[in-house]
Amino acid sequence: MLRVDDVTKVYRTGLFGSGSQTAVSGVSFDVRPGEVVSLIGESGSGKTTVGRMILRLTTPTAGTISFGGEDVAGYSRRDLRRYYARVQGVFQDPFSSYNPIFKADRVLALVKGFFPEIGRSAWDERVEEALNAVRLEPGACLGKYPHQLSGGQLQRMLIARALLLDIKLLVADEIISMLDASTRIDVLNLLGDLKERGLGVLFITHDLSLGNYISDRAVILRHGMIVEAGATSKVFGNPVHPYTRMLLTSVPQLHTKWDATRPRPVVEQTSGETAAHLVEVEPDHLVAAVGETS
Ligand code: ADP
Ligand code: MG
Repeated sequence: MLRVDDVTKVYRTGLFGSGSQTAVSGVSFDVRPGEVVSLIGESGSGKTTVGRMILRLTTPTAGTISFGGEDVAGYSRRDLRRYYARVQGVFQDPFSSYNPIFKADRVLALVKGFFPEIGRSAWDERVEEALNAVRLEPGACLGKYPHQLSGGQLQRMLIARALLLDIKLLVADEIISMLDASTRIDVLNLLGDLKERGLGVLFITHDLSLGNYISDRAVILRHGMIVEAGATSKVFGNPVHPYTRMLLTSVPQLHTKWDATRPRPVVEQTSGETAAHLVEVEPDHLVAAVGETS
């Protein structure tokens, strides 16, 4: 369904674009229907840049992103409208997707414009279904302003909006980082429901345990490059790259207390890295050749 193929993004930086920063380098992966793929990496590893390129909010410097076999770079304004009816993003800060001067459910009302053929009462029914699907009580969230709703409610309303559009792919960028613990699990489980409906999800997170909880496949990014990717059970169960192992050992364990004296694993930073060569160590498990990126 979605194919990210050897994609690189170099940002121009500095005054008059005199400098450059490679945020993403030679990244390839797929998201299939009904599949949750987590894109995992530390802050600054290029995750959001990948999501923004998929959503055509920024363009790749090299490589192609295709959806249903079509290169999204070639889309006209009209094609893009069609694309956004299939592919939507939800981001870390739900408040940023709402205009504070309008009622929150305006994000749902605006979707109606995509479906001129549907009558008013049929539409209202659809809205109610979508709210039910994200476990939002219509009475509790319709007619309210964004500041009257919680982050979790706003996040869910954005997912309801995606459902109304009947999208095929959701790009979810750190969508639960800002939620409190009790809402987090609900939103995670909701993503599981979406998957059951055949939706593909790119679940972007810096939190390894969330990636493990939710995804079928995992892609580990470091400095904009893939270090390890494949079936989540394989990447987490049998991590091969030293960086993935380091990440896994640094996940806080519930039964152990923080200990300042405990030695912390370190993976050396190297500069001037070039796109890694991925090697298949077992079926559906790719690892960057060590020595090229470690
Ligand atoms: P993540 O989401 O994993 O934290 P980002 O994709 O936001 O990573 O950023 C990757 C790198 O690209 C970072 O070093 C960041 O500073 C840089 N970057 C992101 N957006 C821009 C931009 N608009 N202009 C210049 N550099 C950027
Ligand atoms: Mg980010």
